[in-house]
Amino acid sequence: MNYSGVIERYKKYLPVTAKTPIITLKEGNTPLIYAQYLSKMMGKNFQVYLKYEGLNPTGSFKDRGMTVAISKACESRAKAVMCASTGNTSASAAAYAAKAGLKCIVLIPHGEIALGKLSQALIHGATVLAVDANFDAALNLVKEITAKYRLTLVNSLNPYRIEGQKTASFEICDALGNAPDFQVMPVGNAGNITAYWKGYKEYKGHHKINRLPKMLGFQAEGAAPIVKGHPIKNPKTIATAIRIGNPASWKQAERARDESGGLIDMVSDKQILEAYKLLAAKEGIFVEPASAASVAGLLKLVKKGYFKKLRITKIVCILTGHGLKDPDRVIKTVKEPKVVKANLQAILKEIGY
Ligand SMILES: *Cc1c(COP(=O)(O)O)cnc(C)c1O
Repeated sequence: MNYSGVIERYKKYLPVTAKTPIITLKEGNTPLIYAQYLSKMMGKNFQVYLKYEGLNPTGSFKDRGMTVAISKACESRAKAVMCASTGNTSASAAAYAAKAGLKCIVLIPHGEIALGKLSQALIHGATVLAVDANFDAALNLVKEITAKYRLTLVNSLNPYRIEGQKTASFEICDALGNAPDFQVMPVGNAGNITAYWKGYKEYKGHHKINRLPKMLGFQAEGAAPIVKGHPIKNPKTIATAIRIGNPASWKQAERARDESGGLIDMVSDKQILEAYKLLAAKEGIFVEPASAASVAGLLKLVKKGYFKKLRITKIVCILTGHGLKDPDRVIKTVKEPKVVKANLQAILKEIGY
């Protein structure tokens, strides 16, 4: 198939016209993988699927929104874009801005972003400023600057980001032939849950599906403002992509939860790391810690007896970013390789032959 990215594929549902220059790296079209181990673990009649968004061009779902945001910025003759980022937004903005020939300015919380993501923003030529503040404060600065100067904001407050990101829900429905019963996902700044819910509702409006999923969002325990009902001043979690204390799309996330009859709950870093290891060791999929929050959430709900055994139940977990983004976390989580002598006997002994 001649695939040309999410704008080309879903332009009927997107705010683009023949005049919009399409800036694409052929994002989207990511696999929906049947999760053998998780499905079996949940028992008869349960089917768990993993939407592996880590396979987007820069390694996270942010590319879906960035292709639309950058294309629209070009259409409006912008010269430069700016964002605050826990990492993946900056990686994506830097890559798409490079392709479009736009200047890209990024504010990141100093010392708080995963090395893979920082490397990406740097190599794509963005101006990266590490500010002495957390993500929420950095985003406030970007909002203030982009309101005053001719710089286009490309955080998920930019509605084109949400428009692009909703294409993931279309792909899930196209693959399953309908909406799943449940969708499980991490929640940080809450743009993505907003985008998925918008996408599902629009697809139903177009009669492409005849039901809507329940939206199950998970925050990290140390960064769970929506669950706790108030902003968190110093959010803490190893899942850096969801280390956010005051989500920009807070209200929209609550709406997705309430309209769908779903929930927004939280998982501990320990639960996140268990799911992180399980995904890699049992399903063969390497994700960054924030992504594992979806599967950690699924496991938490299974334990609580949340899912009723009635009929075939389809659950989709969104795996938002690739594990190679944050390789340090692996070394901190699992044992390093054992050093052995370079001789046959020593190796055979170690492997039990
Ligand atoms: C951005 C991001 C999230 C959080 O998405 P929000 O839209 O901010 O809720 C989760 N996981 C990864 C890997 C991300 O890059």
